[in-house]
Amino acid sequence: MERIRTFAVRHARAFEWVYVRFERALVAMDPLFRRIGYDRLERPVAAVEKLTKGLLFDCRMCGQCVLSSTGMSCPMNCPKTLRNGPCGGVRPGGFCEVKPQMRCVWVMAWEGAARMRGGGQISDVQPPVNRALEGSSSWLRVAREKAAMPGGPTDAPRDTIARAFPRARAHEPAAAPLAPEPLRASDRGVGR
Ligand code: SF4
Repeated sequence: MERIRTFAVRHARAFEWVYVRFERALVAMDPLFRRIGYDRLERPVAAVEKLTKGLLFDCRMCGQCVLSSTGMSCPMNCPKTLRNGPCGGVRPGGFCEVKPQMRCVWVMAWEGAARMRGGGQISDVQPPVNRALEGSSSWLRVAREKAAMPGGPTDAPRDTIARAFPRARAHEPAAAPLAPEPLRASDRGVGR
């Protein structure tokens, strides 16, 4: 829904303001989340996240949200699902090569980033998306990752990706997660 995405990009600065505070609250709640159990929280939180972010950003629930680094334009709406863009095929007027009637998700991302205080993050190279995390909650992942950042890596392949994208991970820790995943986060039924 391009209208939703256009609204998000036009109000990228306001969404950024809200998200910075929301993220702080999520990270602060990590001890509570641990006490309840991330596994138990995964399904209900993913359902709320899907509804909220679907309405506000046309979110596709990739589980590795990078909206703060993409001008509040969800990159998973790019027909090529590029996590770094735009590609070389943007049409005159900023329209998509694959869907000529649609404005390029990445052209919109750069417009949104220009409105944001942290808009420079769009220059961070993002890692490829891990499809195994599709449908799971980015919110919970951010809480786990930010709270666990000083801790050591737990898994060699994930550690390799995290090390390869340090800037992306610094701003968007869910983009290259290291914290152990709760069972339900990789449950393919979540959010579908
Ligand atoms: S980047 Fe992923 S989690 Fe964030 S809005 Fe897009 S699909 Fe949803």
